[in-house]
Amino acid sequence: MTLCNLIILLILLKFKKDKMYRTHTCGELTLVNSGDDVVLCGWVQRSRDLGGMTFVDLRDRYGITQLVFNMETDQELCSQARKLGREFVVQAKGKVRERSNKNLKIPTGEIEIEVTCLTILNRSELPPFTIEEETDGGEELRMKYRYLDLRRASIKNNIILRHRVAQEVRKYMDSIGFVEVETPTLIKSTPEGARDFVVPSRMQPGTFYALPQSPQTMKQLLMVAGFDKYFQLVKCFRDEDLRADRQPEFSQIDCEMSFVERDDILDTFEGLAKYLFRQIRNIDFSEPFIKLPYHKAMENYGTDKPDLRFGMKITDLTDLTRGHGFAVFDDATYVGGICAEGCSEYSRKQLDELTEFVKRPQTGAKGLVWVKYGAEGIKSSVDKFYSEGELSKWAVVMKAKPGDLLLILAGERNKTLPALSELRLEMGNRLNLKSKEKFVPLWVVDFPLFEWDEETKRYYAMHHPFTSPKPEDIDQMETDPEKVRANAYDLVINGVEIGGGSIRIHDASVQKLMFKVLGFSDEEANDQFGFLLNAFKYGAPPHGGIAFGFDRWVAMFGGQDSIRDFIAFPKNNSGRDVMLDSPAPISQKQLDELMIDIKKEKKS
Ligand code: ASP
Repeated sequence: MTLCNLIILLILLKFKKDKMYRTHTCGELTLVNSGDDVVLCGWVQRSRDLGGMTFVDLRDRYGITQLVFNMETDQELCSQARKLGREFVVQAKGKVRERSNKNLKIPTGEIEIEVTCLTILNRSELPPFTIEEETDGGEELRMKYRYLDLRRASIKNNIILRHRVAQEVRKYMDSIGFVEVETPTLIKSTPEGARDFVVPSRMQPGTFYALPQSPQTMKQLLMVAGFDKYFQLVKCFRDEDLRADRQPEFSQIDCEMSFVERDDILDTFEGLAKYLFRQIRNIDFSEPFIKLPYHKAMENYGTDKPDLRFGMKITDLTDLTRGHGFAVFDDATYVGGICAEGCSEYSRKQLDELTEFVKRPQTGAKGLVWVKYGAEGIKSSVDKFYSEGELSKWAVVMKAKPGDLLLILAGERNKTLPALSELRLEMGNRLNLKSKEKFVPLWVVDFPLFEWDEETKRYYAMHHPFTSPKPEDIDQMETDPEKVRANAYDLVINGVEIGGGSIRIHDASVQKLMFKVLGFSDEEANDQFGFLLNAFKYGAPPHGGIAFGFDRWVAMFGGQDSIRDFIAFPKNNSGRDVMLDSPAPISQKQLDELMIDIKKEKKS
């Protein structure tokens, strides 16, 4: 470069700098920059007037920097600063200097900007809540003004964490040869067991698209197409009643592979899970994840998503407790209990609270039997029926030590086990056994293929109808459907189902049989899934896959139970977007175009 060129470049750079909105962000200046001339842009978080000085906290995505104005040195500028309102957007030019009153809690806390020029880029109305960590805004208000809520560091950091996890997922999947393929959103019903969201077609009036509950059928078609390793970060839509950790639209890391057996899939995605834990939380899992068959999970923990951060396994006491004249146990098909370590001193009040807990409709037990295995002997709520000798036999099988408390429930097996699971989790909370810093992943495998629904008196696919039975169980599909195990698996972490999938059926005759047991006529099966059955006629490779609940996984990495604050614009518990005020009626013109008549509700 000639000297002349260099001079031109420097002039250009200087010109550019003068023209730049900002030279730095509000999160990066430190003592190293002392004396530098800088330009910052951001939002006024708050300002304080102290004697002849005015301090303004200027916020942007990167942090907060203190601006300082001085009445004595520049009265006009300081008066201008005193008029700034919360959330005004400003540009401040000035010099970086060391702060006398340092705030070591933030990276920029050792410096401040002595402002020489202030420009208001935009004014703001008084925001409806304070945009700080300790906000006075309730949930509904924060959702209505979500764009303001997203300025708060905790929510903003959640969204950035989500971005980081997404990038790491893509990096890892790409590194092991997976191809990200987008699948359409306007499709046909997919069988994930929820209600579909539907979109009316204007061009073919009276017909509807369904939004994908998952890209399940699409990814299987991609396997037929020869894309042997597929993944996608994808929006899914399910119209179901919502809970704190559910949203009508949510995201999955959806994956499928060809020419694989179950363990190839588990190994591949255990690799992804370990990679993400390392990159995002700096946690190394050296041991392989445990594989727990479904029936063991139910027997030992009363649930198919056990929280293994703590033990407290369920013990079956059915045989041991029979025949002592206690009708509650004698009439029950199942009696089981857990041992709460060190709780033998529980007071009457605490035991009453636990009894109330198990009797809540969500838990559904009729009552609670307790046995205190105290230092000076055994006491229980069923002393009348069981001698100390009998009770100590229970303590032995439950591996209790003096000082422990046995909590026992009885009833129908399929209701009592889940109730014991709830009780176990409650004791886990009470005993602080559920640390947010600890992660215990496991694979739950060998789920039943079908579940019986009493209401409709028919079998449903526990996973979905494309899940393969274990080959050794296929001949029982018609005779003993309940006994057939699926080649399906879930990844469970800390009691949360993070992902689930299966080896798929790729043989047309097994798929036909599956539809038959599920009560589909050939015609219905063809109507709904003809495209897939057809594709299977042209060389479907053996394949299987998995999908992870992306929002849940990110929330878990962020140490929270609810996924809502990890989604930029979530919906509330009634499925409403209170910011957009959606869903909302559409105009008569739109309805006419779609040839839709809305039934007017009869006013009573
Ligand atoms: N499509 C399934 C789901 O959304 C996951 C899978 O089988 O891959 O649960």
